[in-house]
Amino acid sequence: MLHAVGSTVNALAAILPQPPAQDLDRSHTTTYMRNYMDTLDTKMPAAVVLLSGGLDSATTLAIAGADGFACHAISFDYGQRHRFELAAASRVAAAGHAAEHRIIKLDLSAAAGFGRSALTDEIAVPKDRTGDLAGEIPVTYVPARNTIFLAVALGYAEAIGAFDIFIGVTAVDYSGYPDCRGEFIDAFTRLANLATAAAVTGKGTYAIHAPLLKLSKAQIIRRGLALGVDYSLTHSCYDPGPAGGPCGHCDSCRLRLAGFKAADAQDPLLYE
Ligand SMILES: [Zn+2]
Repeated sequence: MLHAVGSTVNALAAILPQPPAQDLDRSHTTTYMRNYMDTLDTKMPAAVVLLSGGLDSATTLAIAGADGFACHAISFDYGQRHRFELAAASRVAAAGHAAEHRIIKLDLSAAAGFGRSALTDEIAVPKDRTGDLAGEIPVTYVPARNTIFLAVALGYAEAIGAFDIFIGVTAVDYSGYPDCRGEFIDAFTRLANLATAAAVTGKGTYAIHAPLLKLSKAQIIRRGLALGVDYSLTHSCYDPGPAGGPCGHCDSCRLRLAGFKAADAQDPLLYE
């Protein structure tokens, strides 16, 4: 019996969607195969989940899974200055029972003519900013990033027949980015339903889920911990040390640390 199951797994391995080999080790590939087979068994509806590898997107993946979706996680290799978050995204996808995880290349770096952000260009990441962090748009804003990412997610959703897209934006404890607001999500939902063949031919209606939108960072962390999210696998820092350790002083680190404190929980990451 065990032998028969093993043969089935091997046969399915040849036909199931596989993550790019260079991004994942063998154990992750096995995990996706098992997760994908689970989704076939249960006929869960598919959802596309934007996964950066940070705290918010890891929680969003857990929420989408708990809501009964087979999660097709996508991350972007977009020319960001460090790649630790992509490694984190792979870890989080595997641990979060994603049906698959794809890393999509999209060059928004200064060398490609984009840049203009501290995350993609030779611009210093602000440290220990004081005052209302949501009061101005900081230099860590990446031009139109969430619009670009959601557009790719929409294309992927239409290609695989999914009508649900999850994004971990939050408008409470955030950095003041205009593409993290409810108005933006509402506008993109309207766009999705007039711009796609699947929507205009009545095959379905696209929903952009932003389950963290109205949650504070502490509420997000409590929700994630209740769902079993392992935050030691995540990466939030905009300016990590050479080994990937978080700086503890950029906006992202400070929002994260304040969130754990307010949630009365311990951040499992070791700060530089
Ligand atoms: Zn940091």
